[in-house]
Amino acid sequence: MTAQSWKIGEVTITCVVEDQTEHIPPELFFPDARAADVAKHAWLVPDFADASGRIALRVQAFVIETRRRRVLVDPCVGNGKKRPMPFWNERNFPFMERFEAAGFDPRAIDTVVHTHLHADHVGWDTRLVAGAWVPTFVNARHLYTARELEYCRKDDNPGIAGVFADSVAPIFDAGLADIVDEDAELGDGLRLEPSTGHTPGHVSLWIESAGETALVSGDFLHHPVQCAQPGLAEIGDLDVEQARATRRRMLARASESGALFLGTHFATRPAGRVEVCGDAYRFVPLP
Ligand SMILES: [Zn+2]
Ligand SMILES: [Zn+2]
Repeated sequence: MTAQSWKIGEVTITCVVEDQTEHIPPELFFPDARAADVAKHAWLVPDFADASGRIALRVQAFVIETRRRRVLVDPCVGNGKKRPMPFWNERNFPFMERFEAAGFDPRAIDTVVHTHLHADHVGWDTRLVAGAWVPTFVNARHLYTARELEYCRKDDNPGIAGVFADSVAPIFDAGLADIVDEDAELGDGLRLEPSTGHTPGHVSLWIESAGETALVSGDFLHHPVQCAQPGLAEIGDLDVEQARATRRRMLARASESGALFLGTHFATRPAGRVEVCGDAYRFVPLP
């Protein structure tokens, strides 16, 4: 698999895929969605749904290369983690092989951004060596928001079960963790914006370079069908009403700005533009 990458200004954004699953009945992730309704949005086929309206989802990380920085966003599920969700439990993905095949060295990552701390956004931060979870990106500052850490530390939700112990605490123990504001300026054209609702301390990442912008969504939306139906709640949304309001606000910002939109769980062609379509939006992917 060749890594997909895109350029905005002087910045290169590359996606490293951990897993893509197709033909998923939409109601598994969106309780109010039905395949027949998804199929009505013809622009979703074939990249994001099949002709019968069953959906595709990816787990992937983005690497952002500026002139001075190598920033990794949302390092996926990871290997060997014990999780209550069977599709995340004790997996063995060739993610690091793909990461290195794309030309990246884990030691060269200087920053790891987490949009939130669900198990599919933090896993590769650690790997199991001689029975202990140790940092993978040993020269990186790993960024967390305070509200997200508090939520993760409680460990009372299947989406985060076990995450703090095996993927967050070892980073703090190694002195590689920083707590940042939800609207933190990260330098080099990188900036967080709070996009709460899916989880309490959820953030999205804006990237600006030479007059162009990009937005890495995280999980304020999961699938392009939510561009057409921003009210469609995802099964993991902790505060459904807040998640809906955030989705509408962020989709409006994405379409007005003309930013390159990187959908964290978008399958096949995850980068594109959000365009107004009737009283909602549609997603127009780039190659
Ligand atoms: Zn999530
Ligand atoms: Zn996720």
